[in-house]
Amino acid sequence: MDEWISWQDHCPYCGERIELLLDAGLNDSTESLIYIEDCQVCCRPIVVMLSIDDQGSFYCQLKTESDA
Ligand SMILES: [Zn+2]
Repeated sequence: MDEWISWQDHCPYCGERIELLLDAGLNDSTESLIYIEDCQVCCRPIVVMLSIDDQGSFYCQLKTESDA
């Protein structure tokens, strides 16, 4: 199933509000996923740490490259 979930958060570099699209196809897995997404505002590489809790809800943490 191809389903995308939109997640809104703030860029850890510039603090601007950004929107990410998360791949809901991860739902079957309990593993967390880490990937890099460039900020839509300042274009710096945000480290996105995506995980799914016991209820199947997505949780997303955004970090700078030096924090990760
Ligand atoms: Zn930014």
